[in-house]
Amino acid sequence: MQFKDFGLDQRLMSTIEHLGFVEPTEIQQKAIPAAMTGQDLIASSKTGSGKTLAFIIPAMQRLIRNRSLSKRDPRVVILMPTRELAKQVFTQLRLFTAGTQFQAVLILGGENFNDQVKTLHKDPHFIVATPGRLADHLSQGHFYLNGLELLILDEADRMLDLGFSKQLKQINDAADHRKRQTLMFSATLDHAQVNEFALALLKKPKRIAIGAAHTEHKDITKRFYLCDHLDHKQALLDHFLKTEKYQQVIVFTATRSDTERLATLLSDQGLSAVALSGELSQSQRNKIMDGFSKGQQKILITTDLASRGLDLINVSHVFNFDMPKHTEEFVHRIGRTGRAGSTGDAISFVGPKDWLSFKNVEGFLQQSFKFDVVDNLKGKFKGIKPKKENVVAKKKASSPAKDQNKKTQPRKVVKRTFVSHDAGDMPMLRKKTTLPINEIDKDVDLEID
Ligand code: AMP
Repeated sequence: MQFKDFGLDQRLMSTIEHLGFVEPTEIQQKAIPAAMTGQDLIASSKTGSGKTLAFIIPAMQRLIRNRSLSKRDPRVVILMPTRELAKQVFTQLRLFTAGTQFQAVLILGGENFNDQVKTLHKDPHFIVATPGRLADHLSQGHFYLNGLELLILDEADRMLDLGFSKQLKQINDAADHRKRQTLMFSATLDHAQVNEFALALLKKPKRIAIGAAHTEHKDITKRFYLCDHLDHKQALLDHFLKTEKYQQVIVFTATRSDTERLATLLSDQGLSAVALSGELSQSQRNKIMDGFSKGQQKILITTDLASRGLDLINVSHVFNFDMPKHTEEFVHRIGRTGRAGSTGDAISFVGPKDWLSFKNVEGFLQQSFKFDVVDNLKGKFKGIKPKKENVVAKKKASSPAKDQNKKTQPRKVVKRTFVSHDAGDMPMLRKKTTLPINEIDKDVDLEID
C-alpha cells in the first residue's frame, strides 16, 4: 500500500511526497482510512511507529476538504502529556501547514500566559497543547470549542496517569457536539482508566491495536548487567562509553540529582554530555532538547521526562542506569533508539534496588532475560530471592543433624539462586503477582542473596 492509495487531496499528497514518505506504516494504513470516514478511533501502537502522521494526515485532509463549522474556533485540538512531545508534534504539523492557509499554534504550560492569550485571539485552526494550560485558557474564555471538529488525545494513558482527567473532561465537554470526531491514542489499551475514558468520550469507536505495548521491538537489542552499587554502575557506563560505537546516547536515571551528577562526571572526562531534568525551566529544557536533537551533544542524561515519543533518529544506545519505576516506561525508554527502521542497543543496569522493577519488566514483556557480564567488571550481586527460601536454608544449615553438611547445604542454595537470575525462577513472586506492585513490595520480604 502507498499513500496515494488513500485518495488524499492532491495538495496533501504533494506535501507527503515532498517529505519523502511513500509507504504508510502499519498504524497509518489502519488509522488514516478509518479516521477519514469520520468515526471515532481508539488506537494503540508501539512507540516510534509513525503514530503522529496517522493523525496529522487525516486532520489535514479534513480541514482541506470540509467547510469549517465556525469562523473563529479552532478546528483541531491535539493534546499531549508533556511539553517536549507537544513541541515535537507541532514541528511535524508545521511541515504540513506550511504554505497552506491553516495556522497552527502551540500552547504549553510554563510559558508566558499573556502571549498565549494573544496567540489564541488570532483564531488558529490547529492548537497543539498540554492539557493543563489549555484548560486554564478555556476556563478564562480565551477561546471556544463550539466549532471543534477533531479532538486528538495522544498518549492518553500517560495524560491520565499524570492526573489530567479533569482537564481532559473539561475540554471534551466544551466541544461536545454531534459533528465532533475524537481520535485517542494510547501506548496500551489494557489500561482501566483509558477504557473508562474511551467509553465516556468516544462514539462507537473503532479499535485499532497494532502490536501490544509489550511487543518486542526487533530492531533493539536488549542487554542486562547485574550491578552491586552506584560505583559499579558508573564503572560499567564508563566502560560502554569507551567500547561501544555510538552515535548518540540517552542515559535514564531514577533521580534528577543523578542526571546532574553523571553529566558533570562525564563532562569532566571530556565527553559531550548534558543533563535534562524537570527542575529546569521550560526554556532551558527546550534549549537542551534542541541542542541534543541537532547533535550538539552526544550524551543526554535524563529521567523519564524524555522517555516517551521523542523522535531522535541518531540515538544508537539507551542506558537504563536505573530501571524505571513504572514498568511500561521501560518500553518507552528503549523506544528512543531503533527509530524509523534503524537498529539500537538498550543496556540496563540491575542492582539490588532495581531487582523488582527488572522482574516486573520480564513479566510485562513475557520474557526471561539472561545477564551479560563484562569480564573485569563482574560484581557479587546475583539477584534477589524471596526470604522464605533463605529461612528454610538457614534452618537446615543450623540443624545439628545437618551440621556435617554445613559446607554443602548453603552452597546448594547459592547455586539455585544463581540459576534463577536468568530464568525468572521466582516462585514466590509469581504467586504474588495478582497483588498490586506496592503490595508485592511489602508482602514478600526480599533479601539480598
Ligand atoms: P512517530 O511514531 O510518529 O514518532 O514517528 C517515528 C518516525 O517515523 C518519525 O521520524 C517519522 O518521521 C517517521 N515516519 C512516520 N511515518 C513514516 C512513513 N510512512 N515512512 C517512513 N518514515 C515515517
